[in-house]
Amino acid sequence: MADYKAPTRDMAFVLKEVSGFRDMLRVGNYDELSEDLVDAILDEAARFAESVVAPLNRLGDQTGVALVDGTQVRTPAGFAQAYRQYAEGGWGSLQFDPEYGGQGLPFSLAIPVQEMLHAANMAWGLCPLLSQGAVEALAETASAELKQLLLPKMIAGEWTGTMNLTEPQAGSDLARIRATARPTDDGRYLVSGQKIFITWGEHDMAENIVHLVLARLPDAPPGVKGISLFAVPKFIPNEDGSPGERNDCYAVSVEHKLGIHASPTCVMSYGDNGGALGWLVGAPHQGLACMFTMMNNARLTVGLQGVAVAEAAYQQARAYAEERRQGSLPGSGEASPSSATRMCAEC
Ligand SMILES: Cc1cc2nc3c(=O)[nH]c(=O)nc-3n(C[C@H](O)[C@H](O)[C@H](O)COP(=O)(O)OP(=O)(O)OC[C@H]3O[C@@H](n4cnc5c(N)ncnc54)[C@H](O)[C@@H]3O)c2cc1C
Repeated sequence: MADYKAPTRDMAFVLKEVSGFRDMLRVGNYDELSEDLVDAILDEAARFAESVVAPLNRLGDQTGVALVDGTQVRTPAGFAQAYRQYAEGGWGSLQFDPEYGGQGLPFSLAIPVQEMLHAANMAWGLCPLLSQGAVEALAETASAELKQLLLPKMIAGEWTGTMNLTEPQAGSDLARIRATARPTDDGRYLVSGQKIFITWGEHDMAENIVHLVLARLPDAPPGVKGISLFAVPKFIPNEDGSPGERNDCYAVSVEHKLGIHASPTCVMSYGDNGGALGWLVGAPHQGLACMFTMMNNARLTVGLQGVAVAEAAYQQARAYAEERRQGSLPGSGEASPSSATRMCAEC
């Protein structure tokens, strides 16, 4: 199989010449950013995607993920190390606010970087995809205190994020969500309920996972106007920001899928032992609006996955066509059977 080669020249061309990047740099919104730096970032991202992430794709798909000891998801060999390199390389922080440790670069520059990662290994790339959406939703809608608690770790890639909408009886129709959240005396909430199909809901690649969960408060009106959003970390953060006590939220099974075997799609159970401690994100009953920030981010990046997979498939197909020499060139003088003869020969 052909190795993935990131089309950095095309990407740089699209950024600079088609999407108006050059004009944006001229206006000076991004002091530190220059065309050379754009090229350097694309080249370095390509090196990472091609040499670290892509080689894990086939192996990851063959091995898949496993639920061990009832609740822990084991990812394929090499996935966690690659994720550590991703976090240390700052690849998850490109477009985020420097106030929380981000690099303050344009999102449009993060897009080709993500395309490379998805083309290299879509199953692996889904973890940063979800984290990025969770960061964006928290940055848009969480209180200053909650942002301070979660964003620096998530932007640094030390903690990942998930999106928890779907329940067994509530897929497209989110009005039917049943998960609940009870207020505690200290202004936090105890979340209970089951969520299904949660991408990267549990894994061993990062020290903590922040679940963004849709649930209903006790006084919630019915339907989508009664849904609130909660941040529920796998490990409850200590005051110094380190991950503390294990929260009451566990993966109870992992889906068997036709594809992306190395991406754990989890059934998550919240509150089996009294309630998973969570923080309200945004205003009560406005959860769906807050979650739409994350969903829109996910939609955009899932669209990008289409471009990425198409590029990877094209590279595979081209390599195969170049390798499999057959037939004769028109005008070469070599005898070539007519298409009718060919078809008969194959019959
Ligand atoms: C690999 C994978 C990863 C996922 N990751 C996540 C995740 O991280 N977090 C999360 O919350 N969810 C996740 N999901 C769930 C996904 O968001 C749901 O599958 C989706 O919302 C659709 O819900 P459903 O599967 O219950 O389908 P249904 O709602 O049962 O829909 C089935 C079909 O009926 C159609 N349909 C439904 N309602 C109507 C209607 N009123 N009129 C006409 N047609 C209709 C739909 O378009 C669809 O074709 C994931 C799913 C998959 C497969």
